[in-house]
Amino acid sequence: EKFFKKLPKVELHAHINGSISEDTMATLVARKQAVDQDWRLMYRKGESDTLEGVFKMFKLIHQITDNTDAVYKVTYDVIHEFAADNVKYLELRTTPRAEPGTGMTKTAYVEAVIQAIQDCALEDIDIIVRLILAIDRRHSVSVAMETVNLAAEYRKKTEGLVVGVDFSGDPSVGDGSDFIPVFEEARRHGLKLALHLAEVPAPDETWKLLQLPPDRIGHGTCLQPEVGGTQQLVDFVTAKRIPLELCLTSNIVGRTVPDYDNHHFLFWYDRRHPCIVCTDDKGVFSTTLSNEYSVAADTFNLSRDQVWQLSLDSIDHLFSDDEVKRKLRHKERKLTRSTG
Ligand code: 5GP
Repeated sequence: EKFFKKLPKVELHAHINGSISEDTMATLVARKQAVDQDWRLMYRKGESDTLEGVFKMFKLIHQITDNTDAVYKVTYDVIHEFAADNVKYLELRTTPRAEPGTGMTKTAYVEAVIQAIQDCALEDIDIIVRLILAIDRRHSVSVAMETVNLAAEYRKKTEGLVVGVDFSGDPSVGDGSDFIPVFEEARRHGLKLALHLAEVPAPDETWKLLQLPPDRIGHGTCLQPEVGGTQQLVDFVTAKRIPLELCLTSNIVGRTVPDYDNHHFLFWYDRRHPCIVCTDDKGVFSTTLSNEYSVAADTFNLSRDQVWQLSLDSIDHLFSDDEVKRKLRHKERKLTRSTG
């Protein structure tokens, strides 16, 4: 297991509020008296839940991260935890949130996250961090447009720390294609698109959103005909080589996939399609990126060389410029040589 931890890694699909470790949760809960003391039980993820249960968990977490101090601390801790797991490049994503109860505005939320990222960059930890702002599909198109504007504004102010826009939230709610103009606007601002697609069977919505096309797909669980997708979806994603962000444990716990053996990783990996191993919500699902690589290797019989290559190839799909990619590739190759 040492091998997976030592492996230099790239994490491209991590929701900030889902990545909170149990330690950070405990600290934040202790600061608040009013929180349901059963949170630890709920946080004992790992056990099977449903996607519905997972979204209940986010509701609880959001009660705890309802102020800028908490948002800063969570972001700061999450970055340090990924760095300790030997993640060399991290794209965090989060939904800007206003909390009238504490006076936190969306702007203040985004600034707290950015401040934490910038502070970490001053420290002696070996990790590059970028930010993606998330659009929650449960909210309106105008709220989504606000998020795009925030992303564009802070992309400028931070000289590129904000790299893109995500589309997430409960996939059983609403029609994602309503948001197409929002994503087109994001693109005009030079923002990349990482969209949760086909997490549950939704071939019409998926087809429409694919026409954008997105720069990366989150999950893509139900693209294949056998699981509620269509051959047309598979062919399109294949032809465009749109990378898939694959989160094994998340899909098993959220029960959108029955078990590891049946995870769609294999389908796409066998076709040499770009597959990126990610955690999704390392806190809620009690995992690490090392663990996700280890599970993928065990389940699908990947050799160490194949695991190295998988990690190296994910660099191709990150949302930063070529300079960052070159740097990371160089670092990884040097390590390959030194570790044999
Ligand atoms: P936050 O954006 O508050 O930092 O992270 C939590 C949010 O991420 C959730 O409220 C939800 O919108 C989104 N999220 C986290 N995990 C998943 C997932 O597996 N699927 C989808 N569709 N959204 C998720």
